[in-house]
Amino acid sequence: MSRTGRHFLQIPGPSPVPERVLRAMDMPVIDHRGPEFGVLGREVLEGCRAVFQTMGPVVIYPSSGTGAWEATIVNTLSSGDRVLMFETGHFATLWRQMAARWGIEVEFVPGDWRRGVDPEIVEAKLAEDRSRAIKAVMVVHNETSTGVTSRVAEVRRAIDRANHPALLLVDTISSLGSADFRHDEWGVDVTVSGSQKGLMLPPGLGFTAISEKARAASRINNLPRSYWDWEEMLKPNANGYFPYTPATNLLYGLREAIAMLLEEGLPEVFARHQRLAAATRAAVQGWGLEVLCREPSEYSPVLTAVVMPEGHDADAFRRIVLDDFDMSLGAGLSKLAGRIFRIGHLGECNELTLMGALSGVEMGLDAAGVPHQRGGVLAAMTSLRAGRDG
Ligand SMILES: *Cc1c(COP(=O)(O)O)cnc(C)c1O
Repeated sequence: MSRTGRHFLQIPGPSPVPERVLRAMDMPVIDHRGPEFGVLGREVLEGCRAVFQTMGPVVIYPSSGTGAWEATIVNTLSSGDRVLMFETGHFATLWRQMAARWGIEVEFVPGDWRRGVDPEIVEAKLAEDRSRAIKAVMVVHNETSTGVTSRVAEVRRAIDRANHPALLLVDTISSLGSADFRHDEWGVDVTVSGSQKGLMLPPGLGFTAISEKARAASRINNLPRSYWDWEEMLKPNANGYFPYTPATNLLYGLREAIAMLLEEGLPEVFARHQRLAAATRAAVQGWGLEVLCREPSEYSPVLTAVVMPEGHDADAFRRIVLDDFDMSLGAGLSKLAGRIFRIGHLGECNELTLMGALSGVEMGLDAAGVPHQRGGVLAAMTSLRAGRDG
């Protein structure tokens, strides 16, 4: 079928790239060792600190988020180290597998993929660890596979209550720039992120924000690395340069995306995502369907995962929405395949974009013969009005 207008990319990353960012990247490639590049490099390295809310260094890799996961492990841990992780969903499970491949001994606290990290379990596990064998607590902030956001500030307080020296390593690949996150204030040691979700860029950049404690750990850990080595990066970064060819045009985009986030204001960006998320949940409730996340204090501002009624295939529904309305919705991953669909409401999403997306979902439910009530779209509009009135 021929298409008009733009495709609705309503998956929870990659998210749509704003026109402003696309135009900013439409530039000739410059000499990455020349004087012009140093200015760009310094600007983006400095700008990242504002977005990660840190005074410390942020390293930018030409990689996907998965690369930044690996960078975090190889720079801070040693083979045989014990770490504490939580089965919040697909991404936590993948990060765990990666750690295991590096010879890390992972204690993986089981979960039902409907809740975030339980700070009380963090405290109990660390208090039990009298020999201080656990070297890190590794948490996925926003579990993109489930639409559940873990309470990282509370996890920090739990670690402090146990008076435990473990590093706190946090994946914010889908939350940075969409959900409130504070690297310094929350005492996070490494914040891992990626370009293509809340940062509104194309895929291709990975980030690690590094605390002093994490940097100290990197001086004595024993895992081998070369491409990912923090010290190799930080030396030329001091003048805005990189040890190998950076993704120059993505950095032009990054400079623009950071400017957009700071112009709107981070608190306003986070509040907008909360409003869009609340309206989406109002729609789901209006349809008589179920939000996957079971804990209201952990509802994701980034995406909403919707449980398909028994006997209906979420992927068949998503195919109809794509064919009929040219909208991509997120699939259920691994054990949730076919059982849920995910609505992304992150990045440059605004109220009318969201209403378009929710209309497509409601029409798609109808077209796919999925039992539901009418009125989800209306409930979302009502929620957005109420959100505006304060
Ligand atoms: C997308 C995502 C990843 C994987 O990032 P890539 O850029 O695909 O490597 C990891 N963790 C979370 C929470 C994600 O949302």
